[in-house]
Amino acid sequence: MRAGRLRTLDQLGDVAGTRVFLRVDFNVPLTDGSVADDSRIVAAIPTIDELRERRAALVLASHLGRPKGVPWDDLRTRVLADALTERLAGRASVLALGMPGHTETIDAVGRLGPGDVAMLENLRFDPGEEANDPRFAGRLAELADAYVNDAFGAAHRAHASVEVLPELMLASGRPAVAGRLLQKEVEVLGRLLHGPERPYVAVLGGAKVSDKLSVIDALIHRVDHVVIGGAMAFTLLAAEGASVGRSKVEDDRVEDVRGIRRTAEAEGVRIGLPIDVVAAAEPSLDVARMTVPAREIPDDLMGLDIGPATVEAFARVIADAKTVLWNGPMGVFELEPFSEGTRGIALAIASANAYSVVGGGDSIAAVRQAGLEGSFDHLSTGGGASLEFLEGRPLPGVTILED
Ligand code: ADP
Ligand code: MG
Repeated sequence: MRAGRLRTLDQLGDVAGTRVFLRVDFNVPLTDGSVADDSRIVAAIPTIDELRERRAALVLASHLGRPKGVPWDDLRTRVLADALTERLAGRASVLALGMPGHTETIDAVGRLGPGDVAMLENLRFDPGEEANDPRFAGRLAELADAYVNDAFGAAHRAHASVEVLPELMLASGRPAVAGRLLQKEVEVLGRLLHGPERPYVAVLGGAKVSDKLSVIDALIHRVDHVVIGGAMAFTLLAAEGASVGRSKVEDDRVEDVRGIRRTAEAEGVRIGLPIDVVAAAEPSLDVARMTVPAREIPDDLMGLDIGPATVEAFARVIADAKTVLWNGPMGVFELEPFSEGTRGIALAIASANAYSVVGGGDSIAAVRQAGLEGSFDHLSTGGGASLEFLEGRPLPGVTILED
C-alpha cells in the first residue's frame, strides 16, 4: 500500500486577496489564564508568515482544552490570539473572533484584508467539532476560500475542522492542503516509517505500558532494537518473573507483553530492559534512594529511574544506531533525584551519529530541560498523532490532504 502524495502550500496556487482557513494546534498549557509554553504557537509561524507574504487573509482556528461542547470562560482563544500577536512582533495584530455562524464573526471575517490575521473562538465550544458534524463544518467553510491544516497534533482526530471541513472544501472546488509544520512532520516521520537507515533503535519509556502497547506492537516489526525504561519496563520485568517491589506493574497487561516478547524473538528484534534502577519508597524530593538490581527490587521500594549501568548499556545500543526514535522518559524526571537516567539517555541520543526524533509531551519537556533541543533532528509536536503515524495507521487529517 503506497500513500498518496501530500498536497502542500506549493500546490495551493495564488491566494492573494482571498481568505484562508488555517487549522492550527494551539492547545497549549495554561497557568493562571496565561500561556505557560508557546512552542506550539511558534511552530505554526512559518506557515502564517508564508501565507501573509502571499497576501492572503488568515482565519485561524484551534481547540483548547476539553470544554466538551460548551463555552468555557477559562478556555477562550483570546489568550492565544494575544500570544500569537506577541510572537509576530509587530508584523500583524491578531483579531479575536467569536464562533462561526454568528453574524459578527462573518462580518469581521468579511472585513479582513491581505495579510490580516484573525482567530476563531475555541472550536470545541461547539459539540459539532468533536462529532465531525458537517453542519458545523459548513459554518467554518463559509468563512474561507481555501483550507490549510498545520495542526499535526490533531491530525489523528476525525473532527470537523480536521476531516469533514476539508472534505467540504474539496467537494466545492476549493483547495485543501497541508501547512509547513504538518508537511515537515509527515516527511520526517515518513522517513522513519519507510526505509529508515539501520540500525533503527526505539527508546521507549513513560508511565503506562497500556498507553503504548499498540506502538510497541507496531514498532517491533520495523526496528532492529528496542530499549525500554520508565515505569512500563516493570510490567515487562514482572512478566519474566523478576521481583520489582512496589514498582508500577499493570497486571492485566502481562499477557500482551509476553506476546510482544514472542514477536520480537520471531522477528530477530532485541529488547533491552533495565539492569539496575534507582528505587525509593515513593516519588518525592527528599526520600532516601538506592540503586538496586532491576530484578531484585526490595519489597518496600519502587523503581523510579533507570540506574547508571542501564544508562551505559542503553547508550551503547544508541551509539551504534543510524536512526533513533525516543518516546517516554526513563524515570520520574520531573523530580531532580530521579532525572539522571532520562538526562543520560537524552545526552546519548544527542551525541549519537544517528538521525534522531523525539516525540511525546513529557519527553520533549525532558529534552528541553536538559538544554538539548538543538541536538535532535526533530522534536515531533504530534504526541498521540506522531505515535499513530509511526504505527503506520492512516491519520484522517493527513489522508484527506493526499492526492
Ligand atoms: P510522553 O508524554 O513523552 O509520551 P508519558 O506521558 O508516557 O511520556 O510518560 C511520562 C510520565 O511517566 C512522567 O510523568 C514520568 O514521571 C512517568 N514515569 C516515568 N518513569 C516512571 C516510573 N519508573 N515510575 C512512575 N512514573 C514514571
Ligand atoms: Mg505525557
